[in-house]
Amino acid sequence: MGRIFLEHMGGVRLFSCASCDTVLTNRHELISTRFTGATGRAFLFNRVVNLNYSEVQDRVMLTGRHMVRDVSCKNCDTKLGWIYEFATEENQRYKEGKVILERALVTESDGMEEHIAND
Ligand SMILES: [Zn+2]
Repeated sequence: MGRIFLEHMGGVRLFSCASCDTVLTNRHELISTRFTGATGRAFLFNRVVNLNYSEVQDRVMLTGRHMVRDVSCKNCDTKLGWIYEFATEENQRYKEGKVILERALVTESDGMEEHIAND
């Protein structure tokens, strides 16, 4: 029970939860589209809001050993991807604190600012 407080994130090209449309992040926070998740293509973001985080897990990936937390939608609890807490390989450190969202689990849409700019 209790009310869920959701943050609003402005900007153009919003990424939202595909299940409930809660806004998660925007195009400005997108770092890379070249990641692979459980469902296929995945995106790496600098900052994502409205997430719940699992306990830290030790996971060995193609790019080495990482400490990660699974992330899910704060509103509907659908699992969306994971966040990198710590990377053991020096050349993977740039991912620390960054969030992976699986392409199949988010929807991309135009933000308010873009509509205003186009008029
Ligand atoms: Zn959701």
